[in-house]
Amino acid sequence: MIIQLSNGVSTNELTAINDTLKKIGYKGTPVQTQKAQYIVGIGKREFDIRELGTLPGVSDIHRVSDDYKLVSRKWKVKRTVIDLGDNVSIGNSHLSIMAGPCSIESEEQIQATIDHLIANGVKIMRGGVFKPRSSPYSFRGLGEEGLKLWHGLAKKAGIKIVSEVMQMSQIESMYDYVDVFQVGARNTQNFNLLDELGKIDKPVMIKRGISGTIEELLSSAEYVFSGGNEKLILCERGIRTYERSSRNTMDINAIPILKEKSHLPVIADPSHGIGLREFVEPVALASIMAGADGIIYETHQQPEKAFSDSQQTLDFSESERLCNRARKAFELRENF
Ligand code: PEP
Ligand code: MN
Repeated sequence: MIIQLSNGVSTNELTAINDTLKKIGYKGTPVQTQKAQYIVGIGKREFDIRELGTLPGVSDIHRVSDDYKLVSRKWKVKRTVIDLGDNVSIGNSHLSIMAGPCSIESEEQIQATIDHLIANGVKIMRGGVFKPRSSPYSFRGLGEEGLKLWHGLAKKAGIKIVSEVMQMSQIESMYDYVDVFQVGARNTQNFNLLDELGKIDKPVMIKRGISGTIEELLSSAEYVFSGGNEKLILCERGIRTYERSSRNTMDINAIPILKEKSHLPVIADPSHGIGLREFVEPVALASIMAGADGIIYETHQQPEKAFSDSQQTLDFSESERLCNRARKAFELRENF
């Protein structure tokens, strides 16, 4: 159950609410986010919702039977919209396109990408400066210096930045330079990192774990929300299956399921989802038709020279075509 508390709920009112929770056999966990104050009640017993709902200090009460509560769609009438400022938002019944290289490599590469994005009306650029690589000998990113360089150029161009944070110690140094923190598939269940991201007032996009279930992704989002940060985005990026003809198996099923289970925006990552350049577009379009609020994909001025994920990176003409077709697919979906 979720109890939404009134603004300025008093200590006495809180005590009465907690006493009632105890009486009906529920364990209450207080949650203070940057937006509101809640008590998440966990318990199994049937009870008359009016016992709690009529108490002073309670503004609303919702039964949510899912294991995750605050990210569940069951208690929120309106879907979450993430506002990045400057008229850029995610999840607001329009298609969000985020594109850019797997890794930030150089000033020239950043500028070429920004120019390409602007020419195609894309307002959010992706790119890693801290790269999780399977081999310790692969390129591991330009780090903080690369992020600062990127931020300078992106800000000038009015482009927003989404970039992966790999560990708690990077949050502070990245904070002023990113618009969305990305939690990568290898960190979906790094609960300490999720706890810390709950404390900040900046959007967080959580990718589904490599072998993670939909429920686990939602529980990871619940960590950040219950830690205080409601600005969350979910990302399906393919899972590891027995199939070997593609890098991962894009779980298109997850898109309508996540949209049904949660009020959070859902973004599809077809680049990591299939891992093969020639099939990024069809998987992106399928994801949009399945209900995604946006796509995130990899593009580079010379994919064959990209420092990482070259095999799944689109060149700029492929990227332009994808942007156009993605928007057409979205139009079609919205006007069915
Ligand atoms: C990436 O976005 O480049 C990346 C490493 O993604 P994932 O965590 O989904 O593998
Ligand atoms: Mn990548």
